[in-house]
Amino acid sequence: MADLADDIVVAPDVRLKTECAPIEEITPEIRALAERMAADMYATDGCGIAAPQVGELVQLVVIDCDYIDDNNRNPYYLVNPEILVADGEEHELAEGCLSFPGITVRVSRPSHVVVQARNLDGDLMRYEARDNLMAVCLQHEIDHLHGVTMIDHLSPAQRMIAMRELAQAKAAGARPGETD
Ligand SMILES: [Zn+2]
Repeated sequence: MADLADDIVVAPDVRLKTECAPIEEITPEIRALAERMAADMYATDGCGIAAPQVGELVQLVVIDCDYIDDNNRNPYYLVNPEILVADGEEHELAEGCLSFPGITVRVSRPSHVVVQARNLDGDLMRYEARDNLMAVCLQHEIDHLHGVTMIDHLSPAQRMIAMRELAQAKAAGARPGETD
């Protein structure tokens, strides 16, 4: 069986620093990409994944923060997502990322977001999240579409430490989905 973790783009990689193009039309290729991303996300126990993490530089995100087991999948597909509101008290949480195997970093983000996006049927949807994993995940994944990763929220000194830890974790054989 092919290892789906091999599909994940791992930092450092220029594709993780690139602004992604909006999706003009939801074609069969876009649907196939969404399926592939969801398969990779579930295989690596992630709660979210963005298209550049599988090397496709388009504005597509898959999120499933409710994922408990294979019988309880409830993925959200966000096409061209846009953060309309990001406010509330800043909360700090240890975040992991499929593109940064073996490490977590503490990132501070607004606790409340409202996001607008199309679903795979082209319907305009609105998502609101407050004080939960979904609020963090939405911001983390949408960041990816604009070439921003979790370590970009750190100070330069912290970022250097995180990149050193990442190099060590990769050398020790850490795979996407492993956070420590
Ligand atoms: Zn990520």
